[in-house]
Amino acid sequence: MRSKLIAGNWKMNGSLAANQDLLLSIEKALGAPACKVAVCVPALYLAQVQHLCASSALLWGAQDVSAQEIGAYTGEISATMLRDFGVRYVLVGHSERRQYHGETDDVVALKAQRALAAGITPIVCVGETLAQRESGKTAEVVKRQLAAVIHTNGHCISEIVVAYEPVWAIGTGKTATPEQAQEVHALLRAQLVAASTQAERIAILYGGSMNAANASSLLSQPDIDGGLIGGASLKAADFLSIVAAASH
Ligand code: PEP
Repeated sequence: MRSKLIAGNWKMNGSLAANQDLLLSIEKALGAPACKVAVCVPALYLAQVQHLCASSALLWGAQDVSAQEIGAYTGEISATMLRDFGVRYVLVGHSERRQYHGETDDVVALKAQRALAAGITPIVCVGETLAQRESGKTAEVVKRQLAAVIHTNGHCISEIVVAYEPVWAIGTGKTATPEQAQEVHALLRAQLVAASTQAERIAILYGGSMNAANASSLLSQPDIDGGLIGGASLKAADFLSIVAAASH
C-alpha cells in the first residue's frame, strides 16, 4: 500500500518572518498526520526550515539540484549539500525549470540520479502544455519525459516519486478533472510497472491548481497518491485542508 504524500512547492516566495509564521501554523495543527507532508522551499531557507521543523512531522525539500557532483559550477547546489540540511525530497524537472532554464529530459534524469545517489527522493515532474494536449500528444510527452528518468535510473527507479503536472493547470486555477488526471496517472503507472517489479510502491502525485475544494475528488482516484501544491501551500489553512483530504 502506498502512503500518500502532500508536498508544498513554495516556488520563489517567502521571507524569514513569513516562513516562520507559515511553518509554525502548519506544525501546530499537523500533529501526527496520516500521510507524509513536506514543503519544498527556496534553498536559502533550508537551514531555517531544518531548525524549525526538526522535531515535527513536517518533512522538507528543495526545488532543484545540480546535475553535477562537485566543482566549478558557479551558483549550483549539489545533492550532497542539500543532504547536509536534512533534505528528504527535491523537485526535478518542474515545468518552470524546463521552460525558463531550458532543462532537457536528459538533464532532469541526471538530476534525479544525483539526488538518489545522495539518498534524497527526487520528485520527478512531468506534464504536457495546452498545445500538446489539444493536439493529442499528452501520452507521448509524459511518457518521453518519464522514459529518460527510467533509462538513467533503472535499477533504483522505485525510489522516485513522480508528479504529473499538466502545464496548463499550474498556477492558472484550471485543474485537470479527476478522470483526466487518473487517465494520465494510469499511463505513467503502466510505464513504471513495465520498468520495475517494485513499481506499485512509487507514489504518483497530481499537481496543478489543487486546492481545498478539489483535493478530495482528485485524491480519491486509484492512481493519485498525493499532491504537489503550489499556491495553496502558502496559506496554512488551505495546505492543511489538502492534508486532511489526503488523510481519509
Ligand atoms: C506547482 O507549481 O507545482 C503547482 C502545482 O502550482 P499550483 O498549485 O499553484 O498550480
